This record gives sequence, C-alpha cells and structure tokens, in this order.
Amino acid sequence: LFITFEGPDGSGKSTQIRRIAEFLKNHNLPFLLTREPGGTTVGDQIRAMVLNPENRMIVDQTEILLYAASRSQHVQEKIRPALEKGWIVLCDRFTDASIAYQGYGLGQDVAMVQMINRFATDGLEPDQTFLIDVSPETGRKRMESREGAAEVGITQNAAELDRIEARALAYHQRVREGFLALYHENKQRITLIDGEKDREEVYSTIIKALRGSLNL
Ligand code: C5P
Repeated sequence: LFITFEGPDGSGKSTQIRRIAEFLKNHNLPFLLTREPGGTTVGDQIRAMVLNPENRMIVDQTEILLYAASRSQHVQEKIRPALEKGWIVLCDRFTDASIAYQGYGLGQDVAMVQMINRFATDGLEPDQTFLIDVSPETGRKRMESREGAAEVGITQNAAELDRIEARALAYHQRVREGFLALYHENKQRITLIDGEKDREEVYSTIIKALRGSLNL
C-alpha cells in the first residue's frame, strides 16, 4: 500500500506522519517512512540544492526537473522495492506536490509537469493520499514559530524559511488552490483533511481512514 501525504507548507503533515509511523509500528506492520525531495543519498543532495535559500537563480524548468530527478531515484531505489516486499510506504510528498507547487504555484503547464512525472515515476501512483489543507496565513505563522534543529545544509535555524517557503503568500495561495483542484479531480484517492483543526483531531481523522484501508 503506497500512501502519500500532501499539503501546503505549515500544514503539520510531518508531525502527523511521525505519529502514523508509530501507529504502524505498534501494530507490527512493516513500513517504509520516507520523504521528497530526498529519501535517497542522491535525492538528499538534490533536496539541499533545491531548497537552499542561497540558490537564487534556479529557473522554473530546472526546479521541475530537480524534483522529478529526486523522485525517479526514490521510486526505483526505495519505493518500488519496499512495495514489492509487501511493505506499507508512507511518503511525505509525491507527484501531487509538483503539480501544486510547480504547475499551479509557478504557473507552469500542468500537463507537462504531469508528463515529466509519469516518466520519473514510471507510472507509479499512490493508492491513498491524505491532503492536509491550511490557509497560507496559518501555514506561515506555524513555520515562523517552528522549533527544533534546522535542517542541515538548508537553513541556519528552524524558524528560517527554505527557498520555496519564503515565496510570497500569493504563491502559496495558488499552491493551495492546486491541491484543492487535485482533490476535486481525484476524490477516490485523496482524503481532504482540515489542517486548521488541532493536531489530535487531524490525527484521529487520518487514523480512522487508515484503519479502514488496512482493515484494522
Ligand atoms: O514537505 P516539506 O515541507 O519538507 O517540503 C520541503 C519543501 O519543498 C517545502 O518548502 C515545499 O514547499 C517544497 N516542495 C516544492 N515542490 C515540490 C515538493 C516540495 O516546492 N514538488
């Protein structure tokens, strides 16, 4: 079962995924917890490159291809092998993020972004996607009050925004609309969750849906 988590920056999805991993562990279910960009050695190098706020001159096409390059490596090296072993794969972001961030956010051709991603993933699609929706204003507030260690090689401290997060609220509003459009086109696959609600409520909504998919 291939499960992805999506949502605008500051939606709280990373916290939720960690708890869901705990839940699977407590049920003795084998799983792989991974993220994009990244998830592999090469992917993590791409992640540092694409998120570093000092890399000011990354053109849109390069950005699209870097995310896709991280993804193809990830699919072949990690995701497919785990699925073949019968493991559950929990992935923090996947193709939907490219459609929302680079397609809708940057205003690039969505059909082209989809095509590039079909090549990168060799057609692999998630079985289930949790989309945690928040407004750009809420997302920004949460990021700015973020605590803990900064991500090595990307920012100096946790409250500092990465290259994408630092974009204007109008950009993040387009990204949010992109995610919502994807939800309307893929209601079978995507579960929409209100990320403005408190953590416990978000968590219990996800767990309920997950129990259904896993027959638990
Ligand atoms: O999910 P996470 O917040 O760790 O993602 C890292 C960064 O990559 C975020 O700033 C996110 O907006 C950005 N991103 C992106 N396009 C993608 C995937 C992630 O701009 N396709």
